[in-house]
Amino acid sequence: MSLSTIAIPTKGLEELGLHSTNALHYQLSAEELVQDTLRLNQGELNNTGALVVKTGEFTGRSPKDKFIVKDEITADSVHWNEFNIPLDEKYFHCIRKQILDYLNAQPEVWVRDSYACAEPTYRLNIRVINDNPWSNLFANNMFLRPDEEELEHFTPDWHILAAPGLKLDAKECGVRQHNAAVISFKHRTILIAGSGYTGEIKKGIFSILNYILPHDNGVLSMHCSANLGKDGDTALFFGLSGTGKTTLSADPERKLIGDDEHGWNDHSVFNFEGGCYAKCIDLSAEKEPAIYGAIHGGALVENTTFHPGTSVIDFSNKTITENTRVSYPLNYICNAVEPSIGGIPENIFFLTCDAYGVLPPVSKLTPEQAMYQFISGYTAKVAGTEAGVTEPKSTFSACFGAPFLPLHPGHYAGMLGEKLKKHNVKVWLINTGWTGGAYGTGNRMKLAYTRAMISAALSCELDQVGYEYHPVFGMAVPTSCAGVPANILNPRNTWADTAAYDKAAENLAKQFITNFEKYASGVTPEVLAAAPKI
Ligand code: ATP
Ligand code: MN
Repeated sequence: MSLSTIAIPTKGLEELGLHSTNALHYQLSAEELVQDTLRLNQGELNNTGALVVKTGEFTGRSPKDKFIVKDEITADSVHWNEFNIPLDEKYFHCIRKQILDYLNAQPEVWVRDSYACAEPTYRLNIRVINDNPWSNLFANNMFLRPDEEELEHFTPDWHILAAPGLKLDAKECGVRQHNAAVISFKHRTILIAGSGYTGEIKKGIFSILNYILPHDNGVLSMHCSANLGKDGDTALFFGLSGTGKTTLSADPERKLIGDDEHGWNDHSVFNFEGGCYAKCIDLSAEKEPAIYGAIHGGALVENTTFHPGTSVIDFSNKTITENTRVSYPLNYICNAVEPSIGGIPENIFFLTCDAYGVLPPVSKLTPEQAMYQFISGYTAKVAGTEAGVTEPKSTFSACFGAPFLPLHPGHYAGMLGEKLKKHNVKVWLINTGWTGGAYGTGNRMKLAYTRAMISAALSCELDQVGYEYHPVFGMAVPTSCAGVPANILNPRNTWADTAAYDKAAENLAKQFITNFEKYASGVTPEVLAAAPKI
């Protein structure tokens, strides 16, 4: 449906400094944005009608170029670190001016009003301004979509000015290089220059909500997916990129609340977003039918290639990037709940993709172990797959989302700890990574097995089985699980060389302990006692 009957908010845009009203496209429908993209030769349709684009130089986020303006609001509240890099306000004004000058010189500009937070109390109105139509389509897919009546009274709380086509003068702008993403809480603005990776738009809003909700509203914000069982029970899936939040929350037996960003207040869990942003690499209809089925008209596919001479996407092709993606509105998943809200969670899954093959594929955590794991935020990626380097590389990212957390991790961890205790939530650690050895020797855990383990936990079947304790990490490991061969539940049994397993477990434990040193003084002795034992 076209919303072109809605008047362009000319006054607001002029106040912002945007004057190029001659070719200003406001609140176009998905179809119109697709047509604009095709007209400008910036994308192609695949055989199922989805729009396929290339995002240019950047095919992933650029954390080293993300800044928060250090001012009277943020100076003492933001936890300044490698992910929260301070920028002087004068540079914000400089970049903002460069972006506005650039946008005002463009033949066309796309403006979209949308909002974040499915829970009305925390609703955040967002006005997104783009130099291209497909980035605007991304905003349409990923944020919540106001109806016509809501648009008539729409006042933006925050602005996103995104100009991938602009290269900044780094020196003049006080930034590292020609691209930057800058957040100003004072001016309620996110500036994105030089990067067309659409994930910057969504993670920008995520970052500000990770400040506003806990700091101003006492609401826990979380980097997790969420879904709802037949009996209305909510489950959360925390995990760093690539661990399985999107994949595992799309479950035909459960209703999807959201795949990436949620808040948890006194009585509910609610999605921040109105869409999903799924990885496409090696996507297949067999393994991930819900995501595969969402790739049709209106969906935006990024950085994939076609099978030669066809418009059929080759999901196995990594020539542009391994981080190929598709965004689509939540209702493209047939069993999504609307509005995207669930009750207090009964189960929480911490997802880790352990390329060392050490952690058990499913285990149950005590509340103290849960806090230890949450603060640690462990996963291990496979370094340099292309060059054939076989050494996994561990990442410890507090709260499973350090790059998006403006406050000290202790803030989020403290809130989660209280909620776990108050609501007696069951917490599970799921290793979606390697079994039978580290990367190079073993294999990635079969998706069907991981799904079966999660189902067994959710149906309380895992409350009825026997457990053994991991000798190093201490978590309770089930000795049987429906739909999963019993011999893969204890990772040590899956390694041909058990001495090598013990050594790998010890190595990983050492990494956990070293990483945790910086948090030791801020946690209780009980949480500290949940550390692995060497
Ligand atoms: P991001 O934060 O970047 O969105 P994510 O946590 O949502 O990441 P997914 O997009 O779900 O991660 O990526 C998991 C990837 O791993 C998918 O490509 C999925 O097909 C693949 N995979 C392979 N084996 C498994 C498994 N056992 N469990 C989960 N995912 C698996
Ligand atoms: Mn995801």
